[in-house]
Amino acid sequence: MQNYLTPNFSFAPVIPERGLGSRVWDNEGREYIDLAGGIAVNALGHCHPALVAALNDQAQKLWHISNIYTTEPAQNLARRLVEHTFADKVFFCNSGAEANEAALKLARKHARDTFGAHKHQIVACTNAFHGRTLFTVSVGGQPKYSRDFAPLPEGIVHIPFNDPAALAAAVNEDTCAVIIEPVQGESGVLPATPEFLHAARELCDRFGAALIFDEVQTGMGRTGKLFAYEHTGVTPDILTSAKALGSGFPLAAMLTTDRLAPAFAPGTHGSTFGGNPLACAVGCAAFDLIHREDTRANTRRQGTALTAALETLGRDTGIFQSVRGQGLLIGCVLAEPYAGKAAELTAAALRHGLMILVAGANVLRLAPSLLLTDEDREAAIPRLAAAVKEWLQTQ
Ligand code: PLP
Repeated sequence: MQNYLTPNFSFAPVIPERGLGSRVWDNEGREYIDLAGGIAVNALGHCHPALVAALNDQAQKLWHISNIYTTEPAQNLARRLVEHTFADKVFFCNSGAEANEAALKLARKHARDTFGAHKHQIVACTNAFHGRTLFTVSVGGQPKYSRDFAPLPEGIVHIPFNDPAALAAAVNEDTCAVIIEPVQGESGVLPATPEFLHAARELCDRFGAALIFDEVQTGMGRTGKLFAYEHTGVTPDILTSAKALGSGFPLAAMLTTDRLAPAFAPGTHGSTFGGNPLACAVGCAAFDLIHREDTRANTRRQGTALTAALETLGRDTGIFQSVRGQGLLIGCVLAEPYAGKAAELTAAALRHGLMILVAGANVLRLAPSLLLTDEDREAAIPRLAAAVKEWLQTQ
């Protein structure tokens, strides 16, 4: 097929055409089991009837009206998020990067309003991923994503992930925010340690800085709770959510408290499509399905079963050195001899009818539907095993 898109993506050699639950079919009719979930987006699988109905229903009523007005879908979704989290107020936008951009701008504006312009430093982690805008690639701490776009925004300090001493050395009177992924997703499915998160909370409290949790990947049920911070005993001041929030419809949110929200006074920040009625109607339907005990129970049960099956595959073939993660966000760390070859394995899996992801060069990542069935899970493992065994023969 002729490609008319800019060359910043290297597309897989198949063209998906339709999906249902955890199955996808390409334009030649081949069937795949989807354990990638559109990179942790399709939390309810493909074309869930309740989401299709919510989208169709809202499509008959009102598609877009601008942020000159508020709408019932936007207020209904914001109310759900406020009622079930630490937050008092919600800002809607369209992508994880925009939610983080809003979080960082809110933290800077609040600090400037309250303490003065000197308090603008952002402390972030190396190997983090917060999005692709100029501000968020700069905060992300992966020079490969930012260096070609210099000059970059200033006032950002990077410290190693899970290093409380480095964090303590970096946070001071000039710090306006510390931003952390509770599980570093893109760089290898690496959970933050409780010590690191508690240190971040304590330092933010001591120096009047905002603690931002980027839950773009971990949020909305992915880890077995609505948001991953609920596992940690540490509550942020700002939280960002995207991906599963719209479960396939572009939608993102920044959640915060009544203490910080007033810094976003009228005119200070905005988004044409943020809080779009179609997106928020789908978001409400997705929220109601994700925030159910049976969905959480399935996430935990399938996560445990999938992890066990992957560990067995790792032991049988020697392909993995460890399997880690939380709920249905799972990373399989390749054994030393295969380091750097995760992408080759995802290509092999696709040839065997299985969609999986990488998280960096050394980790295979699985982020399937939270409604994954036993049948789909059990069918997926032999496909991965066949792909691994075939690929190992080429090594
Ligand atoms: N933050 C995290 C933790 C992510 O995993 C991602 C995307 O992978 C983003 C932010 C960026 O989200 P988006 O691609 O929707 O801008």
